[in-house]
Amino acid sequence: MPHLIRTLPKVELHLHLETSLRLRRLLGQQHPDEPTIADPHLIADPGAFTGYDRLRRLRYANRAGRIPDEVYTTENITRITADLLAAAAAHNVRYVEIRVGGRRGFTTLGVRPMLEAMAEAAADAEPGVHSAFLVTVVRERGPEEAEAIVTEAAACRDLRVVGIDLAGDEANYPPAMFMRAVDKARAAGLGITVHAGEFTGPTSIWIAIHQLGAQRIGHGIRAVEDPDLLAYLREHQVTLEICPTSNLRLGLVPSLADHPLRTLLKAGVPVTVNSDDPMLLKTDLTKELTAVQAALGLSLETVTGLMRHAAHAAFLPQAARQSLEQEVTQTPAAS
Ligand SMILES: [Zn+2]
Repeated sequence: MPHLIRTLPKVELHLHLETSLRLRRLLGQQHPDEPTIADPHLIADPGAFTGYDRLRRLRYANRAGRIPDEVYTTENITRITADLLAAAAAHNVRYVEIRVGGRRGFTTLGVRPMLEAMAEAAADAEPGVHSAFLVTVVRERGPEEAEAIVTEAAACRDLRVVGIDLAGDEANYPPAMFMRAVDKARAAGLGITVHAGEFTGPTSIWIAIHQLGAQRIGHGIRAVEDPDLLAYLREHQVTLEICPTSNLRLGLVPSLADHPLRTLLKAGVPVTVNSDDPMLLKTDLTKELTAVQAALGLSLETVTGLMRHAAHAAFLPQAARQSLEQEVTQTPAAS
């Protein structure tokens, strides 16, 4: 099964570019004899923290030794995007939505030049792997910055920007703060996905849907606590972007065997499987699918069903989604 899963045509919807981590690796590759950047080391044990605090600790631990601003060049952004796309192609990913929202990249280079650099890599990667971009709005940076970022994102639809992603501290920065920014994105024709139901309960998912009009939910695993919400997600085809290793590493689920994915699948909720922050979490889409397949005893049909849901929920025009759905449904076993 693992080999078969690796060869399956795939779609990934929830994948952060992790700009600073990838730039650090690139710097290490370019100057192997000059250890100017300290190796990542643990500032504090992430295991001592839970939820969003643990994610912060993991990021902080991996960020030890600040990368000089000079590393933020458009050439380097193109290279790290190309690296990510080459990795995706190696796992037979046919379509991927890459999220980017790092403040240093946007402030050092500007939003548009950053996306131009990414788009250059994306054009070179085709026809191996098609890609589009989501611009991440980070809650902790407040509603004004959110609106400014969305305005810039909306002006970059020619650079493969197809949606926005609201991410960050769910508990302390409620969705109401970002309604204007999200309305602006929707008016510009961008898709809306919101990180919700990860660190906070099902209410955060209801609010993301009703207040922000989220078409997809990042994580959303805590939907399983509310049967009415499960029914709503199924009936209205609101897709959940499930990231199993991320949930496990952040202490949100005790084991993959106990992952809410089982209940979500049973309830008929459209679910997808994704790698979230693959470098930070040391994972990839094949590992994610292989792990949940084994832990939950999923059939090959269920695994390809996950890919079909992802194709269906991609922020692409209907015709493109349909042909992608067909592409991922043709499994090696079936053809
Ligand atoms: Zn995420």
